[in-house]
Amino acid sequence: MRRAGRITGEALLCARDMIRPGVTTREIDRAIRAYIEGQGAVPSFLGYNGFPASACISINSEVIHGIPSKHRVLQEGDIVKVDVGAMIGGYHGDSARTFPVGRVSEVAERLIAATRESFYKGVALARPGNRIGDIGAAVEETAKGYGFSTVREFVGHGIGEHLHESPDVPNYGTPGRGCRLYAGMTVAIEPMVNVGQSKVKVLDDGWTVVTADGSLSAHYEHTVAILGDETVLLTDVGE
Ligand code: MG
Ligand code: MG
Repeated sequence: MRRAGRITGEALLCARDMIRPGVTTREIDRAIRAYIEGQGAVPSFLGYNGFPASACISINSEVIHGIPSKHRVLQEGDIVKVDVGAMIGGYHGDSARTFPVGRVSEVAERLIAATRESFYKGVALARPGNRIGDIGAAVEETAKGYGFSTVREFVGHGIGEHLHESPDVPNYGTPGRGCRLYAGMTVAIEPMVNVGQSKVKVLDDGWTVVTADGSLSAHYEHTVAILGDETVLLTDVGE
């Protein structure tokens, strides 16, 4: 899990270093695939339920699962979400970040910061003995504090030998409710935060999830190992 997490995190840094106006989302995807394969790992997303790329790359009101394309060109002021997974030694890592393209609006900056903060408020409660609802409640409360909403129809998840395992890790919840966390658990905590309403819809391509009201959305995800004495962000290799 540590190896998979490190490679996943480093693949995201590859993406970060390419973000600029004029770059296509396909170019970013190609670089991510080359990096993961160069490490002797396998892109977890490639072919997953038929997904055609190694990264999900989603722009502005696209929330998650955007399909990289040579026709999608990053533009000044966009916010771009890159979501990556890598598998090595039979275990997966999964991580996502939202990057600004050049100068972005004030609300976009606030959204990116709020989404990141929501993750850290949630993961602070990812300790043995706590419950899934503790994480979700902290994520939701943090986002709401900014006047934003969290996506309810897509959730975080357990992760390990499979990319998506139980339990679900929603970005909402009630403190003290839900499955109990225990040492040795590995979960992907991944706030998806919208400037407007929480409702989302899936585009006709069958993949791309967008906000129903067209508002901006941000995403922040790490694969997290809950240990007895500490909680480790396996995909955190720096921002
Ligand atoms: Mg992900
Ligand atoms: Mg995930």
